[in-house]
Amino acid sequence: MGRHEMAPIDRIPLVGGALPLDFVNTTGGRSQAEPRERLRTYRDLLAWCRRAGVLAPLDVARLQRLAGDHVREAEGVLARVTGIREMLYSVLRSVAEDREPPASAVAALGRLWRADRQRRDLTWDEGRLRLRLVRGNGRLDMMIWPLVESGVELLTSDRVATLRRCAECDWLFLDGTKNGSRTWCKKACGNRVRARRHYARTVRGGVASGPGVGSRSAESPTEKD
Ligand SMILES: [Zn+2]
Repeated sequence: MGRHEMAPIDRIPLVGGALPLDFVNTTGGRSQAEPRERLRTYRDLLAWCRRAGVLAPLDVARLQRLAGDHVREAEGVLARVTGIREMLYSVLRSVAEDREPPASAVAALGRLWRADRQRRDLTWDEGRLRLRLVRGNGRLDMMIWPLVESGVELLTSDRVATLRRCAECDWLFLDGTKNGSRTWCKKACGNRVRARRHYARTVRGGVASGPGVGSRSAESPTEKD
């Protein structure tokens, strides 16, 4: 197949329309033989958290230093985060396809949600009361809680009715169009499908002659996500 050219983690397209979707979209091609994993190191995770606004740049810098001193622990956090991501994906994907999500995944998400509640408290901040993370703040795994909170918030909101899965790359997104007509998560996916169809047509029509004429467009090195 074509080359798997991926945008680096700090430039990954954020096209989900909600934080939990951009989170599960840090890997792609789940239904293919070769999933495209973006979160390979704890450093990748921090870079994405910064890009998606999950953590403030100051926290990212602090955690970077902390991870340097606690390498094993940071690896453990990465494994936990990607585990939570896949659990969240299985729930979101079921909902996107109008199926009941796996009970075990829903129960696991509920446990995380309760753990998140226990870490928060009402604090007066910038002129209003907020539920701030007061326990576990500054720890290597502190990004888990805003991700869990936003995941539960999305799943229990009306917005979830517009949740879709991109048939080309398995990414999830909210369809914000009035008539529910968005098919692809991003332009590159639509372009790839069109290029494949075009190639299939030209081959059938006998237009393609000689090696490489069509195969270049079929496996166009457009960004793969
Ligand atoms: Zn896509």
